Amino acid sequence: MELVNLTWKEAEEYLKKRRDVLLPVGAVEEHGYHLPLSTDVDIAEAVCRELSRRTGIGVAPAVWYGYSRSTRGYAGTVMVGREELKSYLRSILEGFAESGFTRVYIVSGHFSNDHLRAIEEAAEEARGVEAQLLDFSRADFSDLLESKPLHACEAETSLMLFLHPEKVKMKLARDEEIAYEGDVLRKTESGVFGRPSLATREKGKKLFERIVSELERAVRV
Ligand SMILES: [Zn+2]
Repeated sequence: MELVNLTWKEAEEYLKKRRDVLLPVGAVEEHGYHLPLSTDVDIAEAVCRELSRRTGIGVAPAVWYGYSRSTRGYAGTVMVGREELKSYLRSILEGFAESGFTRVYIVSGHFSNDHLRAIEEAAEEARGVEAQLLDFSRADFSDLLESKPLHACEAETSLMLFLHPEKVKMKLARDEEIAYEGDVLRKTESGVFGRPSLATREKGKKLFERIVSELERAVRV
């Protein structure tokens, strides 16, 4: 159920039954030669929709822009500052509180540490509402993948092959060696960090199932 498709009277009815909502958060950033700028939002929205189907919790419209410093400088990456993201999210969460919601589950499709920290801080500081980041990036997928999840990698590409095959230009996918400059990943030519050539739709299906099952447990407790 998508919250924005409701009229306000229907939203009022929803709030008589339950007061929780799922909020997808993404980033508008490069994902190599083969995946669109929308990838993080696409994945977060798909996870939220499936969770909604299984639990009845409504899905709020996504927050598109995130903090994505490591992909800065590639055409199409548009980020906001860490503090701006935090304060915008806090304000959105308090907007939910004002509207009558008491719990917001945040699902991010983008995983840089600073981005996730900004979400967690916003969730902690928001007044009048219990907000919680459902962070599936810390789950163990090692039995499903041959390479470590990084960016536009085997994991993300597999998920997109399963969720949005029409958006994947698999012929253009390029594996890139990972190198660090200090503690920052060195930029790669294609913008990939990892091995998208290992991606398959089947892996994406299994990954998606595991992600949704993990989060389903988290929202049901
Ligand atoms: Zn991504």
